[in-house]
Amino acid sequence: MLPGSSRVVVIVRQILDFADKKNQAMIVNLEPLIERVLSEEEQKSLTPDQVLQQLIDGNRRFVSGSLTLRDHSKQIRDAINGQYPKAIILSCIDSRVPVEDVFDKGIGDLFVARVAGNIINEDILGSMEFSCKLAGAKLVLVIGHEYCGAIKGAIDNVKLGNLSSLLAKVQPAIEQCAHYQGEKTSKNPEFVDSVIRANVKVTVDAIRQRSPVLAEMEANGTIKIAGAYYDMDTGLVSIL
Ligand SMILES: [Zn+2]
Repeated sequence: MLPGSSRVVVIVRQILDFADKKNQAMIVNLEPLIERVLSEEEQKSLTPDQVLQQLIDGNRRFVSGSLTLRDHSKQIRDAINGQYPKAIILSCIDSRVPVEDVFDKGIGDLFVARVAGNIINEDILGSMEFSCKLAGAKLVLVIGHEYCGAIKGAIDNVKLGNLSSLLAKVQPAIEQCAHYQGEKTSKNPEFVDSVIRANVKVTVDAIRQRSPVLAEMEANGTIKIAGAYYDMDTGLVSIL
């Protein structure tokens, strides 16, 4: 009788052998099979730049279709006693941006805050402060994405219940793109993309301005605050 983890590896290899015969193009990163969740010591030893690089490396695996295999059921059990995530990601709610997969990360690796248009408010800033100051995360990463419906809605000045006040938070990014030469409507993908990118930068600046806790941590090198853009056509994340 094989121990649990070895048995998982054998079963996975059998599945992959079968899948490989069915589809030669299938690529999965078998080594290492990630079983453990991040420990406090591992979290402490990482610098903000290393965390950012790990996310970029994970995204490249996502893009190439070689996601790391994880034993989620074991990770769930291991994570019971605590969590030491590397980063807090602020993303849009868009169903086409599965944050953990996009960075090839698993249980215990990331805090994730999601809200339409990846805007901030007091509660999200509080969540970021908890993640970094109290729970040791080293990176705040705001990720906007191509074809964002929330940004299009803000450009169109959509009014609907509570959505109106959310979309109003995107207006500063639209104002930053006032100099854009061309059709400034949601029908123009180039203009929409300009606002998506401006919105990430506005959000990053607002985090620094509205959270003295995080601004101080960034100033003394404990954390990094950065923005990124998710290309929906390729899955590629680029740092802005
Ligand atoms: Zn969106």
